[in-house]
Amino acid sequence: MSLDFKKMQETLQGIYQRYESEAGQFKEQAVCGRGCSSCCSVMGKIDIVTVEGIILLERLESMPESEAKEISQGLERDRNLRRKGKKSACPFLDEQGACRVYHVRPFSCRQLYSLRKCDQGGPLVHKQAVSLARKVVRDIQKLDDTGYSGHHSFILKLLQNEKFRNTYSAGGFDPSSIKKFGKKHEIIINRFAK
Ligand code: SF4
Repeated sequence: MSLDFKKMQETLQGIYQRYESEAGQFKEQAVCGRGCSSCCSVMGKIDIVTVEGIILLERLESMPESEAKEISQGLERDRNLRRKGKKSACPFLDEQGACRVYHVRPFSCRQLYSLRKCDQGGPLVHKQAVSLARKVVRDIQKLDDTGYSGHHSFILKLLQNEKFRNTYSAGGFDPSSIKKFGKKHEIIINRFAK
């Protein structure tokens, strides 16, 4: 049966909202603010699930052509750097340090906050918020049971592969078809994630 992306996106929004209300007591102590983009510039992987990738691609397709092209080139650059073991700033970040997909940003980004400025010894987070975020990641992976998780530019690359996209959209589940790409880019099968 084909995936009902509209329904999945509504459920995902509900999961995000529930997290915000449960983590609010912790996040309200954060020192983060607009333009502070350390976490988007220097953090490691920006993991997403495939359904979050569909949402990002839809947003990308709705952008002016020049902006979408710039981001797509940034995603390609990001993949090349990461294949060499290097980190890169998120291609969705604009020159002012703001997220260009803020309203549809994935959970990886929603869970980030810090009790101290990141340049003063790295981010500091409540233990309870970390364990809450772990549960939310599992809920999102369960929702996307026929999908995968991994760094955003690699998941987006997968989704831009027509054959993969058709199988995934049709509700198909065939990890063997992405085995090589998945292994090389640390992509996890949601159904088997712990
Ligand atoms: S998607 Fe947006 S919030 Fe997430 S890392 Fe990229 S720029 Fe930052």
